[in-house]
Amino acid sequence: MATRKRVAVVGTGTVGSQAAWRLAARGAEVVAYDRFAPGHDRSAAGGETRVFRSVQTDDGRYVPLVRHADALWKQLQAETGRELRRLTGCLFMGPADDPEMRTIMDVIAEHGLDHELIDAEALAKRFPQFRVDDGDLAVLDPHAGYIRPELSVQTAARRAEELGARIRRYTPVREINPVGGGGVEIRTDGDTERFDAAVVTPGPWVGDLLPDLPWEVSVYRAISAWFLPNEEHHAGDERPAFIRRGGIPFYGIPSPDGLSVKLGLPQAHHRPVDDPNRLERAVAPEELEIFTEIVRRHLPGLNPNPVRLAAFMEGYTGSTRPLVGPLPGCDDIVLLAGFSGQGFKMSPAMGDLAADLALDGHTDLPIEFMTTLGRTAA
Ligand SMILES: Cc1cc2nc3c(=O)[nH]c(=O)nc-3n(C[C@H](O)[C@H](O)[C@H](O)COP(=O)(O)OP(=O)(O)OC[C@H]3O[C@@H](n4cnc5c(N)ncnc54)[C@H](O)[C@@H]3O)c2cc1C
Repeated sequence: MATRKRVAVVGTGTVGSQAAWRLAARGAEVVAYDRFAPGHDRSAAGGETRVFRSVQTDDGRYVPLVRHADALWKQLQAETGRELRRLTGCLFMGPADDPEMRTIMDVIAEHGLDHELIDAEALAKRFPQFRVDDGDLAVLDPHAGYIRPELSVQTAARRAEELGARIRRYTPVREINPVGGGGVEIRTDGDTERFDAAVVTPGPWVGDLLPDLPWEVSVYRAISAWFLPNEEHHAGDERPAFIRRGGIPFYGIPSPDGLSVKLGLPQAHHRPVDDPNRLERAVAPEELEIFTEIVRRHLPGLNPNPVRLAAFMEGYTGSTRPLVGPLPGCDDIVLLAGFSGQGFKMSPAMGDLAADLALDGHTDLPIEFMTTLGRTAA
């Protein structure tokens, strides 16, 4: 009989909690570590919502991974009875001749994705919450909506525990060392434990934990701002998540409680973070100017003064493609990092990928376009 593999998961945030679930579901003996506790909001996850969408805006090669993630989101919901995701749709809007709008249409055509095209006139009637410019086009992705980040991380971690994983909360990992002859040692302040393999998912702390990594992951601080509508929404109003291209690009997600709308910006507007241990969580008034401009210009039904603000951080690679795979020269240490603003929706697929690589040493998932580290194919 094959012996059960012992696998450490370092960082039980977005991807690590899913990896712990997938590894435990596949029979591994899992010990997962986090410097905080699953579901905390001091890193990349938090702020109530993340967009899930089937239509990928910049690169169609994410589509199969998001499909795989979609099946696993359904499975995790079914296994736990928790509503982690709600499919309210996602509306992409922008000038019809905007290059990113054209990429969206290409990705839809290439993968045969469900969608609805809405012209400027119909858009103004059906979605009066948005100010529409002449020549605007909108595309509605019906298999889209929002995921609840804190609940998802906690639920995946809890499911992993139910399947036998041990989670060591408030236990930062200080070092990960390969052992001669195979295996990995994980050192914390209290002890050193030995494993057959380690899945390393430290998010923005990747440079801290693996300072000699030959790939750079730059950490940026992203602000979320919540706005109240000037008037009550009416029952039956369609309130999809939305992504606007052209002019100042931004995205928004109506809050699950129906009271407010959260807005966020792309990476070009994020400030760098020098040290992930010192994330500036307070938001300065001058950082709000761009949000005020967006609300005034595009969302006339919202009060431009935010009622809630939060700052998170995320690791970006130069290409914005994640770093995935075994570390060069050490097949037993599997790294997944640098999700560059895209990681939440596909996190269960990344958890499965981690389990493939840590348990089998290869994967059939189509990840060649990502920055793969060591060997990942069979
Ligand atoms: C504001 C914002 C909005 C976003 N919106 C979207 C969206 O709409 N849709 C989407 O798909 N993606 C979105 N993203 C991207 C997505 O949230 C991230 O890609 C994803 O959360 C990254 O997951 P991660 O597991 O790499 O990092 P994290 O979730 O940050 O997890 C890293 C974990 O590792 C732990 N850790 C670090 N170092 C150590 C150590 N030494 N020892 C033990 N534990 C350690 C941390 O405590 C943390 O729990 C957004 C990101 C931000 C910041």
